[in-house]
Amino acid sequence: MTAVDVRHYPMRIGGRDVETGRVRAIIDPSDESTVATVAMGGAEHIDDAVGAAKAAFEAGVWARKTPSERAAVMRRIAAAANDVIEELVELEMSANGATVRQATGFHVGYALAHFTYFADLIETYNWKRPAPIVTFPTLAQSVVHREPIGVVGAIAPWNFPLLLTLWKVGPALAAGNSVVVKPDEHTPLSILAFARIAEENGLPPGVLNVVPGEGREAGARLASHPDVGKIAFTGSTEIGREIMRLASGTVKNITLELGGKGPSIVLDDADLDLAVDGVLYGCFVYSGQVCESGTRAIVPHAIYDEFVERLLERAATIRIGATRDWDTDMGPVINAKQKARILDYIEGARSDGATVALGGRTVEGHGFDKGFWIEPTIITGVRNDMRIAQEEVFGPVLCVIAYDGDDEAVAIANDSQYGLAASVWSGDNERALAVSERVQAGSVWINDAHQINAQVPFGGYKQSGIGRELGPDALDEYTEAKTIHLDLSGGRERKPFDILLSHADD
Ligand code: NAD
Repeated sequence: MTAVDVRHYPMRIGGRDVETGRVRAIIDPSDESTVATVAMGGAEHIDDAVGAAKAAFEAGVWARKTPSERAAVMRRIAAAANDVIEELVELEMSANGATVRQATGFHVGYALAHFTYFADLIETYNWKRPAPIVTFPTLAQSVVHREPIGVVGAIAPWNFPLLLTLWKVGPALAAGNSVVVKPDEHTPLSILAFARIAEENGLPPGVLNVVPGEGREAGARLASHPDVGKIAFTGSTEIGREIMRLASGTVKNITLELGGKGPSIVLDDADLDLAVDGVLYGCFVYSGQVCESGTRAIVPHAIYDEFVERLLERAATIRIGATRDWDTDMGPVINAKQKARILDYIEGARSDGATVALGGRTVEGHGFDKGFWIEPTIITGVRNDMRIAQEEVFGPVLCVIAYDGDDEAVAIANDSQYGLAASVWSGDNERALAVSERVQAGSVWINDAHQINAQVPFGGYKQSGIGRELGPDALDEYTEAKTIHLDLSGGRERKPFDILLSHADD
């Protein structure tokens, strides 16, 4: 792994480094060391960034390039970022505590691949969509043009800082918009580095601006700024509600990707070796800090004891430790506050009568004296009405819930305010498909978990969000639809409701 220069990161506004006089230390969650300092912006810096983005948009330096020209620049950016992927991985993991394996493949690998997907999509996207010719009330044709919205605000969480930001920046740039990113205050490094790479590889100044800052100040200003046409947000459901409120003042277009409490439904015909490993993978990747994690294992009574026994056996082999070690399976959680919150949830589950069958404590011993460590935790005897099964813990905590019959499995899966993702484990694809069709979730994996495919939409039912990211539809979400109606009648045909109908023969 390349040693990375992590000195000080100014914000990027209008293609320039900007200092603010306010500095935040970026902390490695695995050892609490300071890995960088960052200039922190407030409302006035958001105003400057939105001003720069608006000026760039109005000047047409990006928006008026042809789709092919934009595609070529975006591909060049992706290739240049790929050339320094190890640095981006280091920046990402040093701030958010992902293991090197997860950061390389999931966090940064997916991010660059998905950005490239949007670069390629530009060339095949239907920018102009002719509708069939009509003859009533007159001979005419309508064509729907997809046009950029203007200035897009992107607010991202700390868990997949680069990936979830590029899910917004990719389609926004592809469509010709200018963007202001407000990264999470813990994790601004990788997107700051990406913005610089983008500008060095042909993105005009002002088209991509990055303002690290506190949510309630910089984030709130971006979400309510009158010159921002769209807000794309990923984060908690609680803040998502606040974003809707803030964006409502100027009736902004919004996309929200929010929380989850994913069910992993194990059917009684599942291959248990596959299901046990899959359920653990579904929950414990990146210490359970994934919105679409399968944090509720829903297991038939008939195989419950055997399943739990195998689950505990396999979970005990999860290697927790140094994030830069390629053999490590699980790293720390993001910060002390989140660690305390997770431990509180585990205690709450105990008080509610569930059993902490594995883990449940801070990791002790050599290498764990600093950082924010929690053991992989499995809680059995959980009822779905317990707080541990209803609320998003966002940590390495798996609940195991028993059921009888497919109907009850589906009912438990759907008994949640969330509906982001689910998995179904079965030896019978037909049966698994039938169950999948009844689950209220934006993504359902059969015999898999965490499979993110850039070509298909990702997003949530119910309080897991509004709109979809990824797939061709994502580009629609960053465009306005303008319908141009062209009269083909060659004259002024009188319509039955024409105000001048009575004068038609004059
Ligand atoms: P969070 O909601 O606390 O913060 C998300 C972002 O919003 C941060 O940049 C934060 O600074 C900003 N913010 C906070 N208060 C704000 C305000 N008043 N106005 C404007 N911006 C504000 O979430 P988090 O703790 O960073 O991330 C974890 C949450 O994100 C979890 O609930 C998780 O499920 C969710 N998440 C969802 C997805 C998805 O795709 N659905 C993906 C990853 C994470």
